[in-house]
Amino acid sequence: MGRRMEMPPECAHCGKADPQYGGYCRACVGHATWMHAIQHAWDPSQVRIDGYMYDIRAELPPIPSVPEPTGGKGFGGRRFIIRFHDGRVVETRNLWMIGIIPDEYREALPDNAVFENVPPGLEDRASAKRRRRPRTKKGG
Ligand SMILES: [Zn+2]
Repeated sequence: MGRRMEMPPECAHCGKADPQYGGYCRACVGHATWMHAIQHAWDPSQVRIDGYMYDIRAELPPIPSVPEPTGGKGFGGRRFIIRFHDGRVVETRNLWMIGIIPDEYREALPDNAVFENVPPGLEDRASAKRRRRPRTKKGG
């Protein structure tokens, strides 16, 4: 008989014992999140603008008799138009910010789109003032 599946004894990334977050320790679970994003970088709903990652989620069908919940949609249901580098233009009212892409994953997750519009009042949150670090380029 083989051994039965059980939680790994150590973090899959750093080796710390007794990981609590699906095989990763607390410090490394973010790494797992970004690795997952890299594996799904082709996903047409994955948006990367100015080093930030967003997720276009399904539009919730409007129910005429019920006012739209403001908490259930990204950015309160504001309308964004996103122009992807591949030519797609997507309009969404359910855009969620995942977060800033850490530098170490930036190369694997380059920008793939720009905002065609940013709703008034969301300029700061949506396309944040980015602390640009000088990019060092290796020759070539
Ligand atoms: Zn770890």
